Amino acid sequence: MKRLMTLAASLRSIQWRLVIILMLTTFVLMSVVWVFLNSRVERIFYSDFKENIETNYSALEITEETNYDMLLYNLRTNAVIVGFIKGTDKSFTILDRNTAEILYSSDEFYQVDKNGFRNEIFKSENLLSVLASSQPDAVGEKRGYTKSESGDFYTYVKSQTLSDGEFVLLFKYKRARALEVLSDFSKVIMTGTLFALLAAVLIGSVLSRTITLPINDIMHKAEKITDGDFGYAIEVRSEDELGKLAKTFNYMSSRLKGMLTEITSEKKKLETILYYMNDGIIAYNRLGEVIHINPAAKKLLYNKVSDIISFDEFMSILNIDLTIDRISKNRSICEPFQKVQYKDRFFKVQLAVFTDEKNQLDGVITVIQDITEEQKLEKMRREFVANVSHELRTPLTSVKSYTETLLDGALQDRLTAEQFLNVINDETDRMTRLVKDLLTLSQHDGGIVLNLEDTSISDLVTSCVNRMKREAETKKQSLKLKIKQTIPIIKADRHRIDQLLINIIGNAIKYTPEKGNIQVLVYSEKDKVIINVEDNGIGIPATDLDRIFERFYRVDKARSRQMGGTGLGLAIAKEIAVMHGGDITVKSKLGKGTSVFIELPVYKAQKKAL
Ligand code: ADP
Repeated sequence: MKRLMTLAASLRSIQWRLVIILMLTTFVLMSVVWVFLNSRVERIFYSDFKENIETNYSALEITEETNYDMLLYNLRTNAVIVGFIKGTDKSFTILDRNTAEILYSSDEFYQVDKNGFRNEIFKSENLLSVLASSQPDAVGEKRGYTKSESGDFYTYVKSQTLSDGEFVLLFKYKRARALEVLSDFSKVIMTGTLFALLAAVLIGSVLSRTITLPINDIMHKAEKITDGDFGYAIEVRSEDELGKLAKTFNYMSSRLKGMLTEITSEKKKLETILYYMNDGIIAYNRLGEVIHINPAAKKLLYNKVSDIISFDEFMSILNIDLTIDRISKNRSICEPFQKVQYKDRFFKVQLAVFTDEKNQLDGVITVIQDITEEQKLEKMRREFVANVSHELRTPLTSVKSYTETLLDGALQDRLTAEQFLNVINDETDRMTRLVKDLLTLSQHDGGIVLNLEDTSISDLVTSCVNRMKREAETKKQSLKLKIKQTIPIIKADRHRIDQLLINIIGNAIKYTPEKGNIQVLVYSEKDKVIINVEDNGIGIPATDLDRIFERFYRVDKARSRQMGGTGLGLAIAKEIAVMHGGDITVKSKLGKGTSVFIELPVYKAQKKAL
C-alpha cells in the first residue's frame, strides 16, 4: 500500500516533469532564436548602413581629378549623405589622410568638444586600419561597433585620393538606433516566449495526462490485486507501449489469478490431507518454531505439547539427541527413530528437512506414528506363544513319563497300569480341550461370521443349566435357574452363546467347593437381556479381577490346571459376548463368591414376547 502511494506521488511528478521538460525546451528554443536574431539584426543594420553609403557615394562619381571642395559640395548635395550631415544619430567626417587632422565633421559632438570627438573616433578600428594602410583605396568596413562613453557607434571609413591631397571619409552611425530595434525584437520574443511557455504547460499537461492516465489505471488495478481482487481488466486504449503494457498487465493478472486459485486449491487439499491423517505431523521453521501441527499430532501427544513448544524442546521430551542447529549444520537426517517412548506410548518418529531456493535449511517436518498398539500386539503374541508352549509341555511331559514308566514294567501291574493310563487319558483330554479352545480363539481372531438367528435366551439357558446339572451334582452343589420375566427373543449365534454359558456356569461349578450354591438368574432390562451366574465359591481377589479375561490368565494356576482349566474360558466367553454387541462383567469377593453378568443387546425389532 505504501509503495503504491509513493508510486502515485512519483506519477504526479512524471506529469510535472514532462511539463517542465516541455517548458525548458521552449525556453531554450526561444533563447536561441533571440540570440540568433540579435546578431542577425546588428548585421543587417550595419550592411544596410554600409551599402547605402557605397551606392550613393559611387553615384557621386568622385575621381582623382575632383578636389576637396568639390567633394564636400557633392557630398552635401547627395540626398542620402545629407542625412549624415543633418541627422542626429548619423554624422560624417573628413580627415587628412597624412596628418589625421579633422578637416570637416557634421557631428554635433564635434561642434561642442573637438578633442573629445577626436578621441572618440580614433577608437574606431575601421578608421585606424585605414589610416595605417598604405593602399590608396583602403576601406574600413568591419561590422563590430566602437564602444564610447557618449554612446556606441558603427563606422564605415573610406580613403579617397583627390587632386589636392589624400583624404579619409568617416561615416558614423549611433548604435542606439540598432539597439532600439533590438529591444523591440526582444520585447516581441519575450512575449512570444511567455505565450510559448503557456502553450507548453497546457500541451505538456494534456500530453502527460495521456501517458499518466493508463499508468494510473494500471496502478489502481495493481492496488486491487494486492487486496486479492482480480475482477478488473485494464482498458487497452492504444497500440503503443502503454497499450502493450496494459495488455501484458491484463495477461499477468489473469495468470496470477489462475495460479493463485491453483495454489489455494493445492493448499486446501494439503490441509485436508494433514487434517485427516492418522500420523501426527509437526512442521518447524528454521528457528525450530512450530509453523503447523495437525490434530493427529495434538491427539498423539495428548495435547500436552502445545503449539509453542520448540523443536529442541520436543526432541528433548522424546529423549532424541538432536537440535535444529545440528540439523542446520549437517542438513542430513538419519534413519527414522523406530521406538521412541513418550509417557505410556510408543512412537516411530521420522524427520525430513525442507530447504529454500538457496538450498538453505528452511525447516523440519516431523512425522509421528503411534506404534503402541503394534508393540502391545507384538508383546501379546510373544506371551501367547510362550503360554501355549508351556501349557502343552506340562501334559506332554506327564504323558511321556507315565508311558515310559509303563514301558519300564509298570504295565505288568494291572492296577498301576490302569491308574497310569487314566492319567494319560486325562492329560490327553486336557490337551484336546486346550487345542479346541485355541482353535476357537484363532477362529475369533480371523473374524468369524456369526450365524445369527432368532434365539430364545430362556430356552438356551434352561437347556444349558439342565446339561450342567449332572456336573454340579457330582460336587453335591445346587444349581438353580430363575427366569424373572418374559425374556425377549434376540438375534444370536445359538451355538456360541451356548459355549459362553457352559464356560461361565462351568467356572462357577469348578471354583465352588462341594455343597455350594450356584444360581442362574435371567432378566431383561431396557434393551438388554442379562444372565447373572452367581456362586458362593472361592471368589477372585480384587487385584486379579481386571485380568481374568486375558488369555491364559489364571488366579491360581495349579488349582485351575487341577480342575482341567486352560485359562482361555473367560477370554472366549468375553469375545463371544462382545461379538454379539454385549459384554461380561464380574463382581467377586474372595472367599465369599463370584457373580458374573452376561449382557446381550435386544434390538427394537426383536422385542417380541416369548
Ligand atoms: P480356567 O480354564 O482356568 O477356568 P478361565 O478363563 O475360565 O480359565 O478363568 C480364568 C480364571 O478366573 C480362573 O483360572 C479362575 O482363577 C478365575 N475364575 C473364573 N471363574 C471363577 C469363579 N466363578 N470363581 C472363582 N474364580 C473364577
